[in-house]
Amino acid sequence: QYTASQKKILDEKSVPLIRQRLKNSNKYDYGAVSIVAGSRGMIGAGLMSSAACLKSGAGLVTTWVPESIYDIVAAQMPWEVMVKPYTQDNIISQLKQQRATAYVIGPGIGRKMLYVDLIKWLIETGKPVVIDADGLYHLTKIKSVLLEHKGPVILTPHAGEFCRLCDISKDAYRENSTEIASAFAAKYKVVLVLKGYRTRIFVPHGDDPAQCEIWFNTTGNPGMATAGSGDILTGIIAGLISQTASSGEAARLGVYLHGLSGDIAADQLGQCALNATDLLDILPESIHNLQ
Ligand code: AMP
Ligand code: MG
Repeated sequence: QYTASQKKILDEKSVPLIRQRLKNSNKYDYGAVSIVAGSRGMIGAGLMSSAACLKSGAGLVTTWVPESIYDIVAAQMPWEVMVKPYTQDNIISQLKQQRATAYVIGPGIGRKMLYVDLIKWLIETGKPVVIDADGLYHLTKIKSVLLEHKGPVILTPHAGEFCRLCDISKDAYRENSTEIASAFAAKYKVVLVLKGYRTRIFVPHGDDPAQCEIWFNTTGNPGMATAGSGDILTGIIAGLISQTASSGEAARLGVYLHGLSGDIAADQLGQCALNATDLLDILPESIHNLQ
């Protein structure tokens, strides 16, 4: 059972803010994010994550997509994003040649290609890594590498992805998700964003689950239960990493802003017609409102 002191409400009073931009700063001060996303049949995920990352203030966004979809993705990406093709054999060597301050792996990558070596390498870089969607599917096979990670790791599963990651049933999740998630975050020392109605963010302090902070988000609505919504959250969190004090703060601020964008979008459009790209259009307004 978690204690009352662990439970924290994420609202307009407790949400961390984006660090002010210094006059004498340049794009590298705001993060160079490398995103590995997309596959044949799922090109939108990478587009949405990348655009959200850019809109969240990252200084530089590079998106790596499989060679087979490069042309079509590059043609649709915002001009500011650098799109680069990769193959399973060259992705690690290509990333090694590139300066990145944070990584994303997962949106739309699918299950056909092998990503285990890449995920291990990303975790070993010591840079912040956000793992989402099928990135979590591949991670499940090598969960123990998390025990040795050097830098911050943020995982963003929805309930189904979390059950697979922990090898638990839906019933166990329903009964005990908060305890299971705090234990997981503390054991693997990762920031865990457990998405759904009232997304919870687990921020561990040491390996004692009783010390894990549990933030309950207050923004968001069921209009956000729509394809691509999670891909946008992943991009937002990654874009905030270099602009906040810690990966826990980036996750909290990202979840709050994502939900706030959903609430503003629902006011304007209604929940039914809300699409994930509407969140992107509203995101600047939410960020501006908070500053
Ligand atoms: P995904 O399932 O990866 O596309 O992520 C869905 C996103 O939409 C997550 O950020 C969820 O928190 C959010 N979301 C889905 N359903 C709801 C809901 N009923 N209320 C609030 N947010 C939701
Ligand atoms: Mg998702």
